[in-house]
Amino acid sequence: MHLPLCRRRCPYCDFPIVVSEHYVPRVVQAICQELAWWHAFWGASLTVTSVYFGGGTPSFHSVRWLDAIVNTIVKHFKLEKSCEWTIECNPEDVSPEWLRQIRAFPFNRFSLGAQALRDEWLRWLGRLHTVRQIYQAVDLLFTLSDNVSIDWIFGLPNQTIDDVDFHLREIERMQLPHFSAYLLTIEENTVFGYWVQKGKLTIDEERQADLIAYLHQSVRTFGYEAYEISNFARAVRFRSRHNLLYWTCGNYLAVGPGAHSAWTVEGIRYRRANPAHPYRYLQAVTNPNPLQCEPLSDTAWWNEWILGQVRLLTIPLNRIRQQDPWLYQHVERALATCPQEWFCPAIGGDLRLSVRGILFSESILQALFLLPEETPEGWRFRLWQNA
Ligand code: SF4
Repeated sequence: MHLPLCRRRCPYCDFPIVVSEHYVPRVVQAICQELAWWHAFWGASLTVTSVYFGGGTPSFHSVRWLDAIVNTIVKHFKLEKSCEWTIECNPEDVSPEWLRQIRAFPFNRFSLGAQALRDEWLRWLGRLHTVRQIYQAVDLLFTLSDNVSIDWIFGLPNQTIDDVDFHLREIERMQLPHFSAYLLTIEENTVFGYWVQKGKLTIDEERQADLIAYLHQSVRTFGYEAYEISNFARAVRFRSRHNLLYWTCGNYLAVGPGAHSAWTVEGIRYRRANPAHPYRYLQAVTNPNPLQCEPLSDTAWWNEWILGQVRLLTIPLNRIRQQDPWLYQHVERALATCPQEWFCPAIGGDLRLSVRGILFSESILQALFLLPEETPEGWRFRLWQNA
């Protein structure tokens, strides 16, 4: 569920959001309409295993609007009993009053946009909350669920290994079962992008690489396992079920402006992207056509699948060998071009990326990606069958 409203735009963010409530009631209505339309498209064949309210800042949306969307989902879809319901929230929104209102909703996982644990960095990132509000929000959210995660942006100018260490210690101290750590990246059409263009901001990529390496080398000592390049959990049950669907090429319906869906039917993978601008989204939903989706070519599908596997830090050689000898040969040739130090010693035949491999994951992907003209005639991507 992509809920597009934010209080204001953060200087690093290029997500499709709006900062005026003007469109929101109509967008929420359109989201409910889109949900009903998806239901009509899929019928009862669908069982939902996870629901994710992201954005945007879902916690900034009126509870009345959240209620309308939750009710529509519950009304139209068959939900798995243990369905994961996540809502992204910002620390400044999480108050005892908000908690009282949200308590009746089925959310059982909370993802807090903390972003940094020192006030000077929060200010630099243009965030509206303080570190104190983060700690208060975490305490409050733990009264609703033990499944609380924070987002953290690292690799800011002049940050050192000590700073990464400090964050890890604090995350451990808060006993968070999960966190996501994203490296600061500069997007073109953002304030930071403009600063970089004007020479007011420089990003030291070598220093950032050192921080990534330190993060991945040390998370275990803090009790976390990297199950994805940017995601860390204390136990398997705290891994984000929802995001795992993206990384393993599962079926997901994404609703709202700028949302991207993907699903597989009878051996063909489809993608659908909603218009990002709320106005164009509203127009599209008024005249919906569920068949306006794009079938993926088999090479594009393989590229998407292997991208997810590399993000999950594994190359499942066994499965590839068993299911597609031609693909296995391609993978073997591709891996032969990568230094051995990019991988940990194989366990049971599969490969896991080493810390060095994480730093060079883009190069690994470049080697593994396929172009249509590289495949033999009649080749189809079939690994999905046992996914
Ligand atoms: S709150 Fe999140 S979605 Fe909104 S502008 Fe900031 S980073 Fe982007």
